[in-house]
Amino acid sequence: MKIAVLKEGDGETRCAAIPETVKKFIALGADIAVERGAGDGASISDADFEAAGAKLGSRADVLKSAGIILSINGPDPESLKGADKRALLIGGLDPLRRRETIDAYAGAGLEALAMEWMPRITRAQSMDILSSQSNLAGYKAVIEAAAAYGRAFPMMMTAAGTISPAKVFVMGVGVAGLQAIATAKRLGAQVSATDVRSATKEQIMSLGAKPIFVENVAGIEGEGAGGYATEMSPEYQKAQAELVSSHIAKQDIVVTTALIPGRPAPRLITDAQIATMRPGSVIVDLAAEAGGNVEGTVSGERVEKHGVTIIGAANLARSLAADASALFARNLYSFLSAFWDKDKSGVALPDGDEIVKAIRLTQGGKVVNERLTAA
Ligand code: NAD
Repeated sequence: MKIAVLKEGDGETRCAAIPETVKKFIALGADIAVERGAGDGASISDADFEAAGAKLGSRADVLKSAGIILSINGPDPESLKGADKRALLIGGLDPLRRRETIDAYAGAGLEALAMEWMPRITRAQSMDILSSQSNLAGYKAVIEAAAAYGRAFPMMMTAAGTISPAKVFVMGVGVAGLQAIATAKRLGAQVSATDVRSATKEQIMSLGAKPIFVENVAGIEGEGAGGYATEMSPEYQKAQAELVSSHIAKQDIVVTTALIPGRPAPRLITDAQIATMRPGSVIVDLAAEAGGNVEGTVSGERVEKHGVTIIGAANLARSLAADASALFARNLYSFLSAFWDKDKSGVALPDGDEIVKAIRLTQGGKVVNERLTAA
């Protein structure tokens, strides 16, 4: 079985393989072909890949007779000309926003597998690209906030006087939010956090932060379905808005991470609430690409409103390309090795498997995933 690793385009810095996973795939019995320059953005040289046992080549070279194609983002279907029919195309394919591209993969006979649709089950934890990349994004969001903030995070007692610690508020305590809390704590900030799922209260406290929760209207019990939130009732939204209004004026840094699968990001902070914050405060909106949690957020840009900097953070994992590539590449290896069939020296993806059903988008020339066919 030949596995192709593509060089990404469109400003992507990450790479879907690292020398460690190349060696592991070879140990499974696969041949690995890496497109020249694929690791450049992640500080992995062609020589590093070669030393690990990969063959380097052009896009056409690596695609030729490859049974598996690995990528971070879904490549332009035109650029896959020459790939074998029935080859597996595996990566973060963004199926809902790139439906035409998925149709083109089907038309080319490729079997596309969307890693971001990995189900949240224990068996799939090590294959979950959303978690591995969100964790890094949560860390980087706090680093970006600290860099944009004109004051220090920790309390400092100096001969010239005392600097008080920054107050950081994290809204949305999933994978990114938990890492944001941990990072802000490590930098010495006073941290508070909120979520709609009640299970997060304990997690917030276990990181030494203060939970700020709507008390008079019920939120989501426990973890919520599969760890995901749903849209909240108008009563809850009103109570949450009041809570945020009273809390946010005292905060220096706010990191928002709230997402609802398949829906635009919930609006958590209004322009009027931003106006109550002290000038020089910083908001990092990690939900920017999903429409933003903050009024006035512009995805991928930094804007100033009422003296407050709002960072519309887009794809922060890209700015930690070496670590992000390593985790992404290991997610891909975990997935493929779990379905590896030694006798066939390739991957066997049983139709009835929960993971396969969730991530398989196209097969036999057709779009087969229910989330796409029902849309
Ligand atoms: P996410 O990115 O979908 O959302 C981020 C957070 O925003 C969530 O905690 C959500 O509850 C919160 N949120 C949504 N609407 C909100 C609102 N109006 N106000 C405040 N907060 C709001 O979530 P995520 O980071 O992908 O993970 C969520 C949970 O899933 C975590 O508990 C995580 O441990 C769990 N998880 C489990 C697995 C697994 O078992 N394989 C994998 C990944 C994540």
